[in-house]
Amino acid sequence: MNIRFDGKRALVTGAGRGIGRGILKKLAECGAECVALSKTQENLDSLKNEVPGIQTVMVDLADWTATRHALEKIGKIDLLVNNAAIVNVSPFIETAKDDLDKVLDVNFKAAFNVSQIVARSMVERGNGGAIVNVSSVASRIGCSNMATYSSAKGAMDSLTQVMATELGPHKIRVNSVHPHLVPSTDMGKSASGFLPLGALEYYLSRIPLNRFPDVEDVVNAVVFLLSDKASSLNGIALPIDGGFEAN
Ligand code: NDP
Repeated sequence: MNIRFDGKRALVTGAGRGIGRGILKKLAECGAECVALSKTQENLDSLKNEVPGIQTVMVDLADWTATRHALEKIGKIDLLVNNAAIVNVSPFIETAKDDLDKVLDVNFKAAFNVSQIVARSMVERGNGGAIVNVSSVASRIGCSNMATYSSAKGAMDSLTQVMATELGPHKIRVNSVHPHLVPSTDMGKSASGFLPLGALEYYLSRIPLNRFPDVEDVVNAVVFLLSDKASSLNGIALPIDGGFEAN
């Protein structure tokens, strides 16, 4: 399938590392003009070395107002990927309010904030657009010790549905992807490290394809949903889990 984004401008949050970096590189390869947003300048610099044509924005998405300022003059965006996230692992009854606030700020409120800025300008321009929210299998099953992360992703899922409903008439499609554990990224490594003994083997045994997704699996799904090949897909939640949910 030949997917091209020539003439389109894309914004990817959390593009400094992991899945977001993979998505940004693929979008650039497919001809999109790319804006990479992340928190750490060093990661943005190394990405710019690899993909010289990109624009970078360094901001802490947990800061609502700073994010608004950083994106004030961002210009037209046709494609948005809300990918940035952090993970917090603790038993539900021991989870501190501060940890809940941090995870909600980055994983949910930032996606709300960035989407609002971008969608407003998409509506004004009247040319439509596509948004993909990177959610997780964690919003759809009860992952022990992941109350903050799972709830934030669940809130993001509801937001996806509302945005798809409200923005659809403006030809703006909003969908989400739900990867199972992607063990190769920093987040995947850290989450795997916190799983109870035997949990990794148990999850794997429940995945009919018998493998966890890798970064490329998520990148390909996101790129497809952003593309015109997915022009009738709006408000869908796409599992990237080798059949885990179906099992
Ligand atoms: P990583 O931890 O590898 O990368 C996260 C990225 O988000 C980094 O670039 C980081 O920036 C950025 N980021 C984090 N906090 C902020 C912030 N406050 N402001 C701006 N940027 C921030 O995560 P993954 O690549 O593994 O995950 C990407 C997405 O995929 C997330 O939404 C995650 O929930 C989801 N996902 C991941 C799974 C996994 O197992 N890995 C499974 C299911 C879903 P910087 O580089 O500057 O630190």
